[in-house]
Amino acid sequence: MKTATGTTLITNGRLVDGTGKAVVSAAALVIENGRIAYAGPAAAAPAAASGAQRIDARGGTIMPGLVEAHFHATYFNVEKLEDLDIKYPVEYVSLLASVNCKLALECGYTAARSGGCLFNVDVWLKTAIESDLIPGPRLASSGREICSAGGLMDWNPEFRKIGMEGLVFIINGQEDARKAVRALVKDGIEWVKTYPTGDAASPDINDHHTLCMTFEEMHAVVATAHNHKLKVTGHCRATQGIKNALRAGYDTIEHGTFMDDEALDLLLERGAPCIPALYFEKASIERGSEFGLSQRVIDCHQETLDGGSESARRILRAGGRLGMGGDYGFGWNPHGDYARELTFFVKDVGLTPLEVITCATKSGAEIMGRGAEFGTLEKGKLADVLVVDGDVAADITLLEDRKKFIAVLQGGIIKAGQLAQRLAVEAPIAG
Ligand SMILES: [Zn+2]
Repeated sequence: MKTATGTTLITNGRLVDGTGKAVVSAAALVIENGRIAYAGPAAAAPAAASGAQRIDARGGTIMPGLVEAHFHATYFNVEKLEDLDIKYPVEYVSLLASVNCKLALECGYTAARSGGCLFNVDVWLKTAIESDLIPGPRLASSGREICSAGGLMDWNPEFRKIGMEGLVFIINGQEDARKAVRALVKDGIEWVKTYPTGDAASPDINDHHTLCMTFEEMHAVVATAHNHKLKVTGHCRATQGIKNALRAGYDTIEHGTFMDDEALDLLLERGAPCIPALYFEKASIERGSEFGLSQRVIDCHQETLDGGSESARRILRAGGRLGMGGDYGFGWNPHGDYARELTFFVKDVGLTPLEVITCATKSGAEIMGRGAEFGTLEKGKLADVLVVDGDVAADITLLEDRKKFIAVLQGGIIKAGQLAQRLAVEAPIAG
């Protein structure tokens, strides 16, 4: 991905740098050749060259670009889970996924870590984004997901004679686990997504307290993936599934819904971040009936939401790390609503806006293994920046409204927001 050349000076705003430090009012951000040269009080900022590009933050907020830590670019706002597998061919899924990437960037998400994808689309989305062919977040790719036979993702009855090749590897035992990971190695992905447990979505045979992989299968996934320098994560709701994942060597835990003391200790010992992805649960409860979810499923989502909120609070208070990602890509929880996860964590889970912003920026970049490159506004880092009209530290809901974004920058280049629209008008595409 290209970075800007020259100097950009952003002034007249409050600085939220993503580290959790107090807000700096009357701040300035200086960008040199796409990287941050200065972030701090405007009074102490170095003098900018006369030809510098200037951005007026209008008394609003200057903060790091957001990181969606559980992103499904290829989930196309499906109205039923089965649609993921059978509704569209890979060609159309790829087009829809590229539209979702553009939308995520417009929503202020300058980076995203995939939580699983259809076919091998992520790897090629990442290639297109890194080559500046399509706009989108800097992506950490995932691939087809892994689940044991009869588990949460193995939902097609045998008589339908439909495999799940585009969505998951259905495995039986350690040999199948290794085989699936080796296929993903060849696909060129970075994160292996697995299903150690069930979910509220399947209350009869694979509910949120059911295990969907054996410890041995999970360990085989980790050993093979780590050997090839891939990372492993998993959909972990049941308490025992969380413990199995941590003991098997998982790098992150998705959801971490029902944590007991032992699971929390294991998580902290390993220093593994958790990505609760709670807005999916909230949206399932609020809008599920419109999409035909039964009351039983909705009740299970409520139990998941309550358990997940409590666990997330405990993890953060105990010194653990949380990533912010809301599992968007379902009819009732569509792409574009990403920042509702942040509002939920302030209003319902009880975190402060600054804590949530640190989870959504610094911790997100660390989850991607790129904490040294971006995620905070500190000298030397890539200038992935969000300039918002309004005081985000006082009102986190401002991030839900992309019309409030003055500018979304990646590597110092304005990619979205009000100023990008102005640039597009001033410099229409030639030809
Ligand atoms: Zn997910």
